[in-house]
Amino acid sequence: VKPPPLEYHSPATIDEALTLLDELDGSIPLAGGQSLIPLLNLRLAHPGHLVDLAGIASLRQVTTENGRLELGAMTTHRVVERTLGAQHPLLTAAASHVGFPAIRARGTIGGSLAHADPAGEIPLVTLVSDAEIGLLSTTGERTVGASGFFVGPYTTARSRGELITRIVFPIPPSAWGFSEFARRTGDYALVACAVSLKINAEGITHAAVGVAGVADRPIRLPAAESALLGSRPDPSTIAGAAEIAATSVEPLADIHGSGEYRRRLVRTLTARALEQASGRAVHV
Ligand SMILES: Cc1cc2nc3c(=O)[nH]c(=O)nc-3n(C[C@H](O)[C@H](O)[C@H](O)COP(=O)(O)OP(=O)(O)OC[C@H]3O[C@@H](n4cnc5c(N)ncnc54)[C@H](O)[C@@H]3O)c2cc1C
Repeated sequence: VKPPPLEYHSPATIDEALTLLDELDGSIPLAGGQSLIPLLNLRLAHPGHLVDLAGIASLRQVTTENGRLELGAMTTHRVVERTLGAQHPLLTAAASHVGFPAIRARGTIGGSLAHADPAGEIPLVTLVSDAEIGLLSTTGERTVGASGFFVGPYTTARSRGELITRIVFPIPPSAWGFSEFARRTGDYALVACAVSLKINAEGITHAAVGVAGVADRPIRLPAAESALLGSRPDPSTIAGAAEIAATSVEPLADIHGSGEYRRRLVRTLTARALEQASGRAVHV
């Protein structure tokens, strides 16, 4: 398997990359190549030009300001996994489930968001964290909330010629949980669940519950979130919310599992993620 004929470009700055993407017909960005190179080799993608982002140092910057974590799009899963546990442990936990160590060493956060696999861990956590995605083109910059970014399978709100430059995560609540089931370590999840809770002495004051692998994009589960709000995170609240999560999804079936099997996974994984979050709550 070999890629179709194409021209390779290696810009040193974002401006150069944007100009190439704007001026060259059939040009697309190359990040870690962990999804794009297989697609090229299988001849499922036919770009005329590859614009490699690897030489643009500013896209690898990681900054924290007022508790908000800002990741350059070329931040690798490995950097997240190894260095950002204190700033965003939910994101770190999710990154550690992406493929194998070699894939995490090259694959990037921006690439995962642009690729938008419906079972991807990074899109899921971006959604549950209410993160914002910065998009830049030759005509200007805009920011899209994660809730509006994923529009279908492998499809996002990003327009041709736009680069994801940064992803901004608000200060994450201290109570979080992440649970996924995959057939083998390193495989994409059949189902993954991420939760993020704020809990005070009275009960849960903020709840974000999301799942991946059950729809054409990662989804939040508002009915389960409503069931959690105002309650204490005890076993009966968790069981109730997990049941609501399972009944509020219409999972897709494929060769790896039926819709009904995935529904059961949603129930189990939501309960596990909520139990983890409850165990991490400071004010219970
Ligand atoms: C064996 C294997 C197992 C894997 N398992 C998992 C898994 O369990 N979970 C998971 O989530 N992923 C998994 N992946 C995919 C991996 O996470 C990739 O890192 C990720 O999907 C894409 O990131 P990348 O940096 O490699 O992007 P690339 O492959 O370089 O690019 C992917 C797409 O994004 C576009 N793109 C990249 N960067 C930008 C940008 N900054 N702005 C705009 N567009 C951009 C490219 O043009 C391309 O269309 C696996 C991959 C392999 C090969």
